[in-house]
Amino acid sequence: ATARIGVTGLAVMGRNLARNLARHGWSVALHNRTYERTRSLVDEHGDEGTFVPSESMADFVASIERPRSVIVMVKAGEPTDAVIDELVPLLDEGDVIVDCGNAHFLDTRRREAALREHGLHFVGSGVSGGEEGALHGPSIMPGGSDHAYETLGPMFESIAAEVDGTPCCTHVGADGAGHFVKMVHNGIEYADMQLIAEAYDLLRHGTGADPARIAEIFSDWNGGELESYLIEITADVLGHTDAETGRPFVDVVLDQAEQKGTGRWTVQNALELGVPVTAIAEATFARSLSGHADQREAVRAAYAQVDPAVDSAPLAGEEADRFVEDVRRALYASKVLAYAQGFDQIRAGSDEYGWGIDLGSMATIWRGGCIIRARFLDRIREAYDSDPDLTSLLVAPFFRDAVADGLPSWRRVVATAARLGVPAPAFSTSLASFDALRAERLPAALIQGLRDDFGAHTYRRVDKPGTFHTLWAGDRSEESRD
Ligand code: NDP
Repeated sequence: ATARIGVTGLAVMGRNLARNLARHGWSVALHNRTYERTRSLVDEHGDEGTFVPSESMADFVASIERPRSVIVMVKAGEPTDAVIDELVPLLDEGDVIVDCGNAHFLDTRRREAALREHGLHFVGSGVSGGEEGALHGPSIMPGGSDHAYETLGPMFESIAAEVDGTPCCTHVGADGAGHFVKMVHNGIEYADMQLIAEAYDLLRHGTGADPARIAEIFSDWNGGELESYLIEITADVLGHTDAETGRPFVDVVLDQAEQKGTGRWTVQNALELGVPVTAIAEATFARSLSGHADQREAVRAAYAQVDPAVDSAPLAGEEADRFVEDVRRALYASKVLAYAQGFDQIRAGSDEYGWGIDLGSMATIWRGGCIIRARFLDRIREAYDSDPDLTSLLVAPFFRDAVADGLPSWRRVVATAARLGVPAPAFSTSLASFDALRAERLPAALIQGLRDDFGAHTYRRVDKPGTFHTLWAGDRSEESRD
């Protein structure tokens, strides 16, 4: 045995993780179902460190020092189970299997429990940052046992991104905690991108600015509190010109957003946990809506004469400048709301599954390497550091001030979106959720009344404890139902 760790599954992600490990001085055993990928890795990058290639799974396992650490980086779902089944009879008690693919956290929990029976440690680890991140420093979110992290921690922390000397990797919690947090990370990424896309659309329709000009605005925003990787690449994409047509690139791309499913998982889980992640849900639905081309065309045609361009004259001069600043502030406030909801979901998942996740640490490991990396995450970390039991990020002093400052802009932007007929579902739902949270009374009281009227579902009262039902069809007297 000559390798410290093994990687099986050498498509783009596995290949780059293996190279990253080798570049940091770890000897890496290599395996892929089809040997060609292994061969090309060694041919092209063999000089980057110590690689130990094997054609068979048995040779691969035999080439790793015990207790073994084996990273599985194959297509999520059945392929992962197939590879695990192949590995298990070859491994010894105390060995560690790490699934770095995008597994559903419930699959990870199932696999962890099954492998524990065999005396093996199973770690589901989220890895964010795409192929570039995998090579140059991703954000890594490993779950699994403390014991497994003792073995993996030094290796993973050495290859992760680093911000202010702190690696973007920490032990998230037991069994599926790592994949759970990666899932919510992706959900937040959906919300972040939808908010950015709405901001662009509002600027374009609201001021008549072209994509190149809007690229400059985003560049400008990236110098302030919105500074983040996604804002940076928004400027990049909007500033790009299509070589073939000479038109703005964004205008030649089909406007139907695709998805691989992690946004849907986040929303499904939020529904299970009863956590209102409204911004993530709207972002996920907005992608679905964009894909309904036939329906979009039919509705557009049906209303072409009925709703002639509401009040769509773009703003100009100082008004336009004010609107740009309003959109920036609304984007920031909406983003705070979206992140607050995502962190609520992590806390709820942690409570439900007993993971004991440290929320501040999650903000810390997302500061670099991953797609949602942003200056703003430092503020989230600070908020949870000063109060780990924070009910909501919205009440942390820094964010309360930020949202309060942006509130008038937020309201103006949502109102302008409605007036112009520009869809801004994530901006709107974020503001609505905020208003619902701060309302003294919600019409939920009426809903309780309706439920009691049609289904005797009972209600509680504001002035005394207990559960009650009104005899709606009778004399309308009230009964106690305790
Ligand atoms: P793919 O998801 O495209 O998977 C291809 C790899 O899976 C190949 O090595 C392939 O082997 C192997 N494979 C597929 N089916 C089987 C099987 N039945 N048995 C054994 N091996 C199999 O690769 P990526 O590198 O894009 O992603 C790997 C994992 O990382 C996925 O789970 C993905 O969701 C996750 N991920 C991807 C990111 C990205 O940006 N691409 C970012 C973060 C996570 P063969 O060469 O023989 O076909």
